[in-house]
Amino acid sequence: MADAMKECPSCALDYDAEAHPDVCPYCGYEFPRQNPRLVWYAALFLLLMLIWLFW
Ligand SMILES: [Zn+2]
Repeated sequence: MADAMKECPSCALDYDAEAHPDVCPYCGYEFPRQNPRLVWYAALFLLLMLIWLFW
């Protein structure tokens, strides 16, 4: 049972990752791993902004 436990990055409490894969049952924090592609785009955009700023 304990292998499905993960720590919430917002409230640092252990939650059942199988029962709550999307949102923390304690603080309601939404886990961003749903679409990792969006994080990629955000990082790429940030990088382009930095290049543009220091050009
Ligand atoms: Zn939480």
